[in-house]
Amino acid sequence: MERVLNYIGGELVPAMGGQWLDKPEPATGALYALVPDSREADVQAAVEAAGRAFPAWAALPATERSRMLRRIAGLIHERLDAFARAESIDTGKPLAVARTVDIPRSVLNFEFFADAATQFSTEAHPMDGVALNYTLRAPLGVVGCISPWNLPLYLLTWKIAPALAAGNCVVAKPSEVTPMTAYLLSQVCRDAGLPPGVLNLVHGLGPHVGGPLTRHPDVSAISFTGSTRTGAEIARVAAPAFKKLSLEMGGKNPNVVFADCDFEDAVATTVRSSFSNQGQICLCGPRIFVQRPIYARFKEALVARTRALKVGDPLEAGTDQGALVSREHFEKVLGYLALAKQEGGHMLTGGQRAKVPGRCENGWFVEPTLVEGLSPSCRTNQEEIFGPVATLMPFDDEEEVLSWANSTRYGLAASVWTKDLTRAHRFASRLHSGIVWVNTWMLRDLRTPFGGVKESGVGREGGWDALRFFTEPKNVCIKL
Ligand code: NAD
Repeated sequence: MERVLNYIGGELVPAMGGQWLDKPEPATGALYALVPDSREADVQAAVEAAGRAFPAWAALPATERSRMLRRIAGLIHERLDAFARAESIDTGKPLAVARTVDIPRSVLNFEFFADAATQFSTEAHPMDGVALNYTLRAPLGVVGCISPWNLPLYLLTWKIAPALAAGNCVVAKPSEVTPMTAYLLSQVCRDAGLPPGVLNLVHGLGPHVGGPLTRHPDVSAISFTGSTRTGAEIARVAAPAFKKLSLEMGGKNPNVVFADCDFEDAVATTVRSSFSNQGQICLCGPRIFVQRPIYARFKEALVARTRALKVGDPLEAGTDQGALVSREHFEKVLGYLALAKQEGGHMLTGGQRAKVPGRCENGWFVEPTLVEGLSPSCRTNQEEIFGPVATLMPFDDEEEVLSWANSTRYGLAASVWTKDLTRAHRFASRLHSGIVWVNTWMLRDLRTPFGGVKESGVGREGGWDALRFFTEPKNVCIKL
């Protein structure tokens, strides 16, 4: 049985209380690792270690911090196979996805912010010969990073890398559902020679570890990615203490297909945007609106391609769809399938647990599912399911589909398919969404701001936005 360990003050240690959480493998349902069940005392030790490390780390020239991030990136890259396998086993996602998406992007996160650390600059505001203002940006000190299970290393490093690049020391809390690659990262940091305490990883349950981290008076900022419910709880605790907050939360994204789209591209990409990572990506587009003249043809093509997806052992080549991440999440998704039927939905394909014989017969697999016949306002179309379930709805005109697209409490991402450039610009600007893709999906330039509006988020990650979040501006005004 593997044991994940905390990484505190440069040491790999169990939780002080000596307790462990079970970690099953989603594809088999069998227990395969134990995770530290950490508590407030472990968080306290991590915050103290980070506080001790901060002065020296912040005082390093940016080029030195950059070199260290690059060394970490290099070691993850060298261990790509081990990281990808661990991520696949831990999450249930196909090994090919972990190998081509999750782990390479984690490497890139470190490389990108290694570069950014040396390119960051601040502003000057001359006042017509009277005075000169310039802005200094200092690291915040000890910051907390809390991440979810769907893209475990990818999203953890997306926070850690800019925080470290800007000169902060970090206490991070990976998801207890998928701790393994964070543990491998702590081994990489030791091998890279990262000074003790600069990064600390504390494993355990949200209320036991994330709670004390959010409340801790010596933690100046919390960068969180996860559900809207947890984001609200973090805001409730952190806001009265005036901590800086970045909250990346849930989504229920629209995918709007106009009749003048590139049909083949729209269908192929819609399969990806509906079912990649078993639909467990905050950017997936599970509400598919298709303009009536092409609705029947689009439906037929989409159903055929969805049926062709191979649900299977995540470790086998050729598997398109792996397992859902946990029993709890699997049951939640099955509950939504029952709700969709109750609400009058008709299953075009899928709609139940998928059986994968052999090693994976007890795994948490769900058939890729397309549902038709639901209203845009029903619960199935308003609540985040976060699984391989998408709904298809016909629409007639732009105003109608815009109001449906904007009708949820979320506003993270949207896709629009049209060859009409004017409409693309007009429609994109009217969507309540932090990110809009036109004729594509999930194409990301790491320099661009990433985040949501409404209940999908507060603040932006990526590029300079992340470095600005992790630094405190100070204006100096000199009279000339
Ligand atoms: P979650 O909110 O249950 O957990 C996220 C993290 O918060 C975990 O590490 C968890 O342990 C921790 N946590 C739980 N309770 C806490 C508390 N009281 N205080 C502090 N931390 C606490 O989310 P999840 O189920 O792991 O992830 C799925 C959700 O994440 C979905 O809603 C998805 O849309 C969202 N997500 C959003 C983005 C984005 O960029 N907007 C990206 C990925 C996932």
